[in-house]
Parts: sequence; C-alpha cells; structure tokens
Amino acid sequence: MTGSEAAIRGASHRVAPLVMKFGGTSVEDASAFARLAQIVGDRRAERPVVVVSAMSRVTDGLVAAVRYASEGAVESADHGVDDLVARHRTVAGRLLHGGEEEEVGAALEVARREIRELLRVIAAHPGTRRPLYDEVVSRGERLSSLLVAAVLRASGVAGRWVDARRCIRTTAEHTRADPLIEATAAATQAELDPILKRGEVPVLGGFIGSGPDGATTTLGRGGSDYTAALVGAALRATEIQIWTDVSGFLTADPRVVPSARTLDHLSYAEAAELAYFGAKVLHPKTIQPAVEHGVPVRICNSRDPSAPSTRIDARSEPSRAGVKAIAHKTGVTVVQVASARMLGAYGFLRAIFEVFDRHQTAVDLVATSEVSVSLSLDDTARLPEIMRDLETLGTVRVEEERAIVCVVGEGLRARPGIAASVFGAVPDVSILLISQGASSINLTFVVEENRLREVVGRLHGAFFGS
Ligand code: ASP
Ligand code: MG
Repeated sequence: MTGSEAAIRGASHRVAPLVMKFGGTSVEDASAFARLAQIVGDRRAERPVVVVSAMSRVTDGLVAAVRYASEGAVESADHGVDDLVARHRTVAGRLLHGGEEEEVGAALEVARREIRELLRVIAAHPGTRRPLYDEVVSRGERLSSLLVAAVLRASGVAGRWVDARRCIRTTAEHTRADPLIEATAAATQAELDPILKRGEVPVLGGFIGSGPDGATTTLGRGGSDYTAALVGAALRATEIQIWTDVSGFLTADPRVVPSARTLDHLSYAEAAELAYFGAKVLHPKTIQPAVEHGVPVRICNSRDPSAPSTRIDARSEPSRAGVKAIAHKTGVTVVQVASARMLGAYGFLRAIFEVFDRHQTAVDLVATSEVSVSLSLDDTARLPEIMRDLETLGTVRVEEERAIVCVVGEGLRARPGIAASVFGAVPDVSILLISQGASSINLTFVVEENRLREVVGRLHGAFFGS
C-alpha cells in the first residue's frame, strides 16, 4: 500500500473505538474513580471513549435544589449544592496533585457560583424553571466528566474532556429532549475523531445535550446509557460497555435465587424483554441506536472488573433449555372485568381501555375470554376512579399482592412442550393470568406474591439446576 492509499483508507475507515460508559455508582467516590482509571487504562489499546454519569446521588441533589429554589427556599438549595461540590473536591484532593488539582478546584468554584446564580433566577422567576432545570441538573455530568478526564491524566492515560453538548444535538424539549440522530452522529464524529487520532481518550458526560438554539438540554433521568449508545452508533464502536454495579444480566434475581448466574450472551430482544420485567440493568429505549447499527452492548461490573459480563447483540442463540432467564416483578394488581354483555358484542374492549387511558394508567398484561378481561397494573394511584368507571361496564374484581413471572428465551414459543415444562415445575401453584405477548420469546404469568420466591426458585432449579 502506498502512502496516499494509506491516507485515503485512514480517512474513510475510521478505526473503531470502544465506548465505555460508567454509571453513578462507578464514580461514587475516590476509590471508584481510581478503579475507573485502572479499567480504562487496561483497555487503552482498544481506543476507549468514556461516557460518564454524574456521581451517585448528585443528580437527585441538583433536582432537589431546583425544587427548593422554585419554592423560594434558596438556602436549602445552596446547602445541597455545597455538599455535592464538596464530594467532587474530596475526590480531586485524593487523586489529583499540583496544577491539575488547582484547575479542577477552580472549575468547581466557578460551577458553584454559576449554580447559585441560576437558583436565584429560578427563585425570582419560577417561569424559568424548566430551561434552567437543564442548565443546573446537567452540572452533575459536566463535573464528573471533568474530574474523570483529570483523574485519567493523573494515572498516565491521556484523558481529554469533551463538552457533551457539542456532540449530542437534541430537540428543544427541556428535561426530556429527544436526540437528533443524524446531527448527533455528524457532530460526534467531528468532535471525537481528531482526539482519537491523536491517541487520546475522549471523556464526556452522559445525559446532556444541546437544543436547536444551543441551550443545554437533558435526555431524561437515566439518560447516560442513551448517550453511550448514541456515541457508540455514531462512531461504529466495536462494543458499548456499560460499567455498573452488577455482573451483567443474571438467570434470575440473585436476591430471590442465590444460585443465579451471569448470562454470557443475550439477543437485543431478550435483553429488552428482561428489562421490561424488572431487570433494572438497562432501559430498552436507550440501546435502540446500538440495535439499529448492530453495535454490541456489554454489561460489566466496575466493582469487580474480572467478574463475568453479559454481551448483548443481534445474534439469536436459543439455549438448550429453551429458557435463558426468569424475570419477575412484585407489587402487581390484577383487575378483572366480567360482563355477559361482552359476549358477541364489539366495542367492549375499547370501552375498558378508554377507562385506563382516561386515568393515565399503563396496563402491563392482558388476557381476555368471551365474557371477561383480566389486566395487570403496576401503578394503582388511580385505582378507585378506575374501578368506579369500570363498574359501569361489568362486574369488577381486584386482586392485590400479585407478582408477574416472565420466562424469556429466543425461540421459546416455537418449542413444543415449553408450557408443560414451565407449569409442570409448579403444579400446585395457581396461575392467575397467562400471556405470551406478541414476541415469540416470552411466556409471562401472574402468581400470588407470597409464592413468588418458591415459584422462581423452582423454575430456576428446573431449567438451570441448582
Ligand atoms: N445522572 C442522570 C440521572 O441520574 C443520568 C444517568 O445517570 O444516567 O438520571
Ligand atoms: Mg445511572
């Protein structure tokens, strides 16, 4: 290859980086920052791009400060801000030295002053609360990322802070803006490619972006994973690693099944299914950009970097047992509506769903027969009103303290005998509602909450041994 051929190849084929996202507990204190530096340093050869959440509880603190300010309690707001600035300063004091420590210290003082000013504007003009909320709440990620870049440098890794607002371009909807995918991809490449080419490690805060007018926006709570997926998709990363405080996706919740183990691999669809049912590891919406570009996602444990991790990608690999994992959700309420009028009539289901719609309550599972409908709910805040309206349609029964069990596995439904082996494992338990959903990868049912441990434990034993 000649020199100019190499240059052309270099320009058109960017070398794929590795996106590493660290959640709030992975930057909760100085030892977490030190572990992060070690984890990133160990993977330097893979060209890391670091995306980081705010230090744990910092976003909550900033949200509370905005609320206090808008209620006129500026002093309480200031106290909260002082506390969280102090936490950053402690980390800087432990891990940075000399000029780096002074620089971060000065940036923290500027942030404190600016946040205080913003809180005073909010207190004086409550109408500015929404746009200024983003301006204040984004400080968590802006500060954590600045600190991460400095800590990396202190440990010999060429960390380079990047203002995430220059990369993530969004709609104007403050507090939960939507990313503009193409503009974000172009801006992210333009910002990060030159840094990567110099062999440096870009570090940017998750969760934040900028709107069409340049104002700071945020992607909604928990949005840092979304940032990681957007960056990973824009740069066609080899992998997006989500560093958190659990060892990936497990075969079941380890608090319920102590012998649960980490899954090596899940398909995107399986991970989404598990996420809907209580595995709080990942929000399905946030990995959509990765899914669209086929970029694999891996869930890793920053407290135990050598522990097993779960890789999530487009491959669908049915497991031998048919079942990959058993998820569950407690605190579920089942509502049953029965009416002979329903038999052969139309419009009845619509009338029922309109009641839930009117009371803005999401329904999880639905099963219908000729004369009855069963629905499961998570949120019962408006149940009395819902009941009153449903009673005009038929006889209503409410069962509380229920739990949903969701058995997940690619190709599950096509497998002969799967229902027999699932329900055969718990022959003496009453199954209250069964739903297979539109996807072919889950079998979901409701049991009494007080039998949940037993049911999940026995299913786990049947499919994975103990
Ligand atoms: N710091 C933000 C939050 O707590 C975003 C994130 O951590 O993903 O919601
Ligand atoms: Mg988080």
